[in-house]
Amino acid sequence: VSTLADPTVVALGGGVFAYLQPDGSWGLNNAGIIVDRAAVTLIDTAMTLARTERLRDAALTVGAARPVRTIINTHHHPDHTYGNALFGNATIVAHAHCRVAAQRVGLGPAKNPALNLGEIELRLPDLTFKTALQLYLGDEPINLLHLGAAHTLEDTIVWFPERKLLFTGDLVFSGGTPLVMDGSIRSYFSTLDALRSLGAETIVCGHGPITDAACFDPIERYFRFVQEVARDGFAAGKTPLEAARAADLGEFSAWSESERIVGNLHRAYSELRGEPDGAPIAAVEQLFKEMGEYKGSPLQWNLSLPCLEAAHSPSLA
Ligand SMILES: [Zn+2]
Ligand SMILES: [Zn+2]
Repeated sequence: VSTLADPTVVALGGGVFAYLQPDGSWGLNNAGIIVDRAAVTLIDTAMTLARTERLRDAALTVGAARPVRTIINTHHHPDHTYGNALFGNATIVAHAHCRVAAQRVGLGPAKNPALNLGEIELRLPDLTFKTALQLYLGDEPINLLHLGAAHTLEDTIVWFPERKLLFTGDLVFSGGTPLVMDGSIRSYFSTLDALRSLGAETIVCGHGPITDAACFDPIERYFRFVQEVARDGFAAGKTPLEAARAADLGEFSAWSESERIVGNLHRAYSELRGEPDGAPIAAVEQLFKEMGEYKGSPLQWNLSLPCLEAAHSPSLA
């Protein structure tokens, strides 16, 4: 039985809402709900059918039953995209590489009975872009931007310049360890610079509580640390797991999911070998296994909903 708190809808003003799924650990992502005159746009969905149904209920409530017509996928990871199919004919918008990567991953993770995701149907993006796309909320522009490889090769941020409001997707984990197995450490730094230059004041990140622009510096420090551990471990002939075990996480030990250091070191090693962004590293099952070994117990996916049977409205905060 899950002891996690219920998902929460946070009103950000002017028809924009953050949908937060505590505690933001593995698979528990945040989403966004944008209510326009006639329709609703979502930023990401959820990983399980039940959690996506809960998100859909929240969108119906705050959107006063307007239909979800558009879904922005910030990247291909299943926690952000597996709920797409629940919204019928909604147009799915994403970076072009998101479509490629989602197709490559397919429904593999949905077939893992331990995750109990429900009947997931793959629904790929219909409308793709490579650098920028503008949506309008009434007369207000909303910018979909790809600033470079970071968490994945295709991260899309959703930027409301008039309100200095930013949805980062998994470029930021608030209170959690960043993850770059499918992305690029060397490009992360310039992507962070581009993020800083936006001047965002309110940041809804991919996992964890709402935060602000102070979140960027620790992420940069973390990846410089990962590169340093990788350089030493690589030179000493250690495996990424051995290098992770020997490293002192220091200030970063306060973040949850610290086991991600192992997956992140695999990516750092690939970059030290001179491989291009997106070069295949160990299989994801192997990476999860090693992260579990580092942690001393298998990774936890707390995906069941606290009150699955109670068809209650989302709490408003
Ligand atoms: Zn995520
Ligand atoms: Zn992700």
